Amino acid sequence: MITPVSLGTWPTPVEAAPRLAARLGLAELWFKRDDLTGLGGGGNKIRKLEYTCAQAIAAGATTVITSGAPQSNHARLTAAASARLGLACVLVLAGPPAEERRGNLLLDGLAGAEVIWGGDRPLAEVVAAEAQRRSAWVIPFGGTSSVSVQGYVTCGRELRAQVPDIDGTDVVVALGSGGTMAGLVRELGAARVVGVDVGALPDPRATVAGLLDGEVEPDALRIDGSQVGAAYRTLTDGARAALETTAREAGVFLDPTYTGRAMAGLLAGSFPRGDKVVFLHSGGLPGLFGHPEL
Ligand SMILES: *Cc1c(COP(=O)(O)O)cnc(C)c1O
Repeated sequence: MITPVSLGTWPTPVEAAPRLAARLGLAELWFKRDDLTGLGGGGNKIRKLEYTCAQAIAAGATTVITSGAPQSNHARLTAAASARLGLACVLVLAGPPAEERRGNLLLDGLAGAEVIWGGDRPLAEVVAAEAQRRSAWVIPFGGTSSVSVQGYVTCGRELRAQVPDIDGTDVVVALGSGGTMAGLVRELGAARVVGVDVGALPDPRATVAGLLDGEVEPDALRIDGSQVGAAYRTLTDGARAALETTAREAGVFLDPTYTGRAMAGLLAGSFPRGDKVVFLHSGGLPGLFGHPEL
């Protein structure tokens, strides 16, 4: 077992959202504010980085490398965690160099991360080559691994202490690389957690089940695939509407890629649920300021 490094501010708050609950026809709606994890603007990747950075340090690495989309929240938070811990940070980002340094990309640069543009090369290849050249520790896609899943087991434990009747409450999360959902399922059970897929994985069900080492039947996982839209990076109509509704009914700002889709699924009633819901706000606000369509 690896001892995590301390990066975030725990526990994150839980807040009731009564007006949005009424709009959704729910008896109770709670936001778990994992956008308020502290370091680097906050977000769900901090819980995972407490493990992946501990692994890098234990291995004696002084440089970490990871990859993502140009507006990756994971890349931004890896840059911030590296700054906090005194590690050098290399980010391999998909596609050609961005024309404007906005949103997460602006913050990556402020935190001193070196950005390498992948162009049309497969990111994993670029990461492997650069990691070898620099003796860098590779942090996987989305920071998700069988080790870092533990960060979301801890979040599940916080929810047990914070939410009355958590065992009778549905927990709704965005499903990207799968680590967040997997950790919550391990702690709270497959019957309690709904993952709204954002379309980042070829087979999200297999990935989440794989992270759980056979603890749950893949078919027992509750995954909603209705909000993917044309592609991971497009802003769906549902997400745009969900951003507006949540801001106006709760004073909470969601992100266009992940939490916007998850809330769109909840608003559309695209999966069965009871009348008590925890919505995991996993962060991503800087992505709003780097999105071409917003
Ligand atoms: C990465 C991310 C997610 C998805 O988390 P995974 O553990 O990769 O599934 C959800 N919300 C935000 C804001 C993210 O940045």
